[in-house]
Amino acid sequence: MYTAEFDYHRPATLAEAIKILGKNKNSKVLAGGHSLLPAMKLRVAEPAALVDIGRLKGLSGIKASKKGVKIGALTTHAAVAASKDLTKACPLLAEAAAQIGDTQVRNRGTMGGSLAHADPAADYPTVLMALEAVITATGKNGGRDIAAAKFFKDIFTTALKSGEIITAITVPAYNNLPHMGGCYLKHRHPASSYAVVGVAAMVGLGENGVVTRTSIAVGGVTGVAVRCTAAEKALAGMAPTAENIAAAAAKVAAALGHPMGDHYASGEYRVHLATVLAKRALTAAVERAK
Ligand SMILES: Cc1cc2nc3c(=O)[nH]c(=O)nc-3n(C[C@H](O)[C@H](O)[C@H](O)COP(=O)(O)OP(=O)(O)OC[C@H]3O[C@@H](n4cnc5c(N)ncnc54)[C@H](O)[C@@H]3O)c2cc1C
Repeated sequence: MYTAEFDYHRPATLAEAIKILGKNKNSKVLAGGHSLLPAMKLRVAEPAALVDIGRLKGLSGIKASKKGVKIGALTTHAAVAASKDLTKACPLLAEAAAQIGDTQVRNRGTMGGSLAHADPAADYPTVLMALEAVITATGKNGGRDIAAAKFFKDIFTTALKSGEIITAITVPAYNNLPHMGGCYLKHRHPASSYAVVGVAAMVGLGENGVVTRTSIAVGGVTGVAVRCTAAEKALAGMAPTAENIAAAAAKVAAALGHPMGDHYASGEYRVHLATVLAKRALTAAVERAK
């Protein structure tokens, strides 16, 4: 399998990369290449030019502050999984990154690339929805912040405008809050490890032990990952007992209209898996919050 012909650019700066993207119609950013190159080999994608940002300085690395954790778009999945700052401030994200693909994919694939690609079976979109993270995109008019909830528009479709490059991802600092816990679980496809269904859950407990904050997001079932608000509301102000968690998890289906099905898992089975995984993820999140 060979790609169609394309021009190759390796800019030295972000500004130069944005300029080249603006000048070349049908050009694409190349980061880790682990989604784009297979698509090009299958001729599903035939960009006329590639703008390789893989070696741009300042776009990788993880910085923790009181406000949250900022992750450069070129940070690899392996670096996210191994980050001590993230393990402390937002273990849920590191936990999800560790479950992506295999060692090679985690060493080459980048967080920005995964988000821009917006595969419905990818892990980060689900986690970023639950974490209420913010994605920073930079274009010729400067940078803008996009809430994760507004970033993913459809299958392989995002809010990125032509010529924009994802430069960073910011996750709020949940470790500043007492009694917060999170968990990401997925039913992985046995060949690729992509999420047939992935569930991210965050739970906050008050001093009296009742649930003060819940976020539950499900990916892999619908075109974009969704927040399960009915399930979240069901737990609000409740004691996190096994019965209450099961009742809340039973409500995730309400957010999963038009579930996708394929030869591996029907839509109905995906919804069932989401319910089971939501119950397990909430239970683990509550334990961690304690
Ligand atoms: C065998 C295999 C298994 C995998 N398993 C999983 C899995 O279990 N879970 C999972 O979530 N993913 C999985 N992936 C996908 C993997 O995470 C990819 O690395 C990721 O989707 C794309 O990141 P990349 O850096 O390789 O991006 P690239 O392939 O370089 O680019 C992907 C797309 O994003 C665009 N792009 C890249 N970076 C930016 C940027 N900063 N700003 C704007 N646009 C950008 C490109 O133009 C392209 O359209 C798997 C991939 C493979 C090959």
